[in-house]
Amino acid sequence: MDAKTVAVVGGGLGGLAAAALLARGGCAVTLYERSKHLGGRAQTSDVEGFRFNLGPHALYRAGAGMRVLGRLGVKPRGGIAGQSGASYALRAGRLHTLPRGPVSLMTTDVLPLTGKLELGRLLASLRRIDPNTLAHVSLREWLDLRMSREDVRALVAALARLGTYCGDVDTLSAQAVVTQIQLALQANVLYLDEGWASLVSSVESVAREAGVTLELSARVDRVVIQSGQVQGLRMGDGTVRAADAVVLAGSPGDVSSLMPEDTVLAREAAESTPVRAATLELGLSRLPRPEALFALGIDGPWYASVHSAFAKLGPEGGAMVHVLKYLATPDSEATEAELEAVMDVLQPGWRAHLVARRFRPSLVVSHRIPTAKSGGLAGRPSPEVPHVRGLYRVGDWVGAEGLLVDASFASAESVEHALLRQRHEEPRLAVGA
Ligand SMILES: Cc1cc2nc3c(=O)[nH]c(=O)nc-3n(C[C@H](O)[C@H](O)[C@H](O)COP(=O)(O)OP(=O)(O)OC[C@H]3O[C@@H](n4cnc5c(N)ncnc54)[C@H](O)[C@@H]3O)c2cc1C
Repeated sequence: MDAKTVAVVGGGLGGLAAAALLARGGCAVTLYERSKHLGGRAQTSDVEGFRFNLGPHALYRAGAGMRVLGRLGVKPRGGIAGQSGASYALRAGRLHTLPRGPVSLMTTDVLPLTGKLELGRLLASLRRIDPNTLAHVSLREWLDLRMSREDVRALVAALARLGTYCGDVDTLSAQAVVTQIQLALQANVLYLDEGWASLVSSVESVAREAGVTLELSARVDRVVIQSGQVQGLRMGDGTVRAADAVVLAGSPGDVSSLMPEDTVLAREAAESTPVRAATLELGLSRLPRPEALFALGIDGPWYASVHSAFAKLGPEGGAMVHVLKYLATPDSEATEAELEAVMDVLQPGWRAHLVARRFRPSLVVSHRIPTAKSGGLAGRPSPEVPHVRGLYRVGDWVGAEGLLVDASFASAESVEHALLRQRHEEPRLAVGA
């Protein structure tokens, strides 16, 4: 039986997972990555001995990513966030205990008693909500419907930002928010030892063992199509590589630019509003307040977390801290001073212990907000490109399951199912046919 030849464009976690799954299923897979290294947004840099992810990265232990990683035999190593230390709600420049369970809800002064009761009722009912019933409901509509108090709405909107990175309450589907909160309630998130590069290298090893050919510094220019059927790829150097199927694992804009005459893909790219954030990574020789490990902005879109308190991310005794601003619109940016001000509240005096830092005014966290208007998660583009035979896509903007990297892994799995199903239906499909 001929193996199906598959070209994967993009060597982030989504492309790597798709390549590994397809190769294990018997396809002959080549992955092309334009950059010199694999990982995409899951990259980790070493700065003065500190491991800096591209902004704070947390893996949902109950999410689709863990399911797919489990199938690939990858067991991420790291620590569960929030198992020790103090977590705060940041409001009007002051820290309050963050309500994360019944005890902290009772003791916090961030809400008065009536607010605590309202939040408590909501949290108790959250596990029973079917998120799919909220696909067409915006976060704003859901907050207004379920909560009578403005301070409770602000707190839940902050938890929504934490889970989705999106602060656009008018656009974001409440389905995405409830899905993420339910995942976090099932099992708190994992921070990874040595950063997300460790995950990238584990999935890379599985892909190599399964026979995937990995080509780095290999920019793909075009998908070659004939009579509505994929024929292969044209590379940046002008050469053509034949393939029975092509999996595009970049952004909606990348996909559209590889198919420049395709108006459907161009429209999808134009309709995909990305979620963006500004990030500040800090490596400190020590923490001025060792117990203060987490802060979430309630009246502003702030996040700060000492990731090294739970995962190995720097020298012994040092601290690796992620500070982030959730950006309101795709074209907004933050200043470094805004993010430093959050640290001044959580860790006053941190500057005296500074060893390493890196600031990014705006990064794409995920390529598409699942909007209420488009029907939530199911309104995102499908993994199979319906009007081109043999063309598929993978990413955090694709498919009906999961957010962030969970969507990348889930869409990789959907492509695997679609292609392997097809392969069994057409066992003698010739290479390049
Ligand atoms: C600040 C920040 C915080 C985040 N926090 C979290 C978190 O807490 N939890 C979580 O689950 N996720 C988080 N994410 C999102 C997560 O990083 C991404 O969802 C995930 O890494 C996406 O993987 P991917 O493979 O789909 O895409 P990418 O990592 O973007 O990979 C796409 C790859 O395709 C390559 N490519 C594109 N076009 C071409 C071409 N023409 N030829 C060759 N190669 C091409 C690119 O170079 C790139 O390497 C965060 C992201 C950011 C930026």
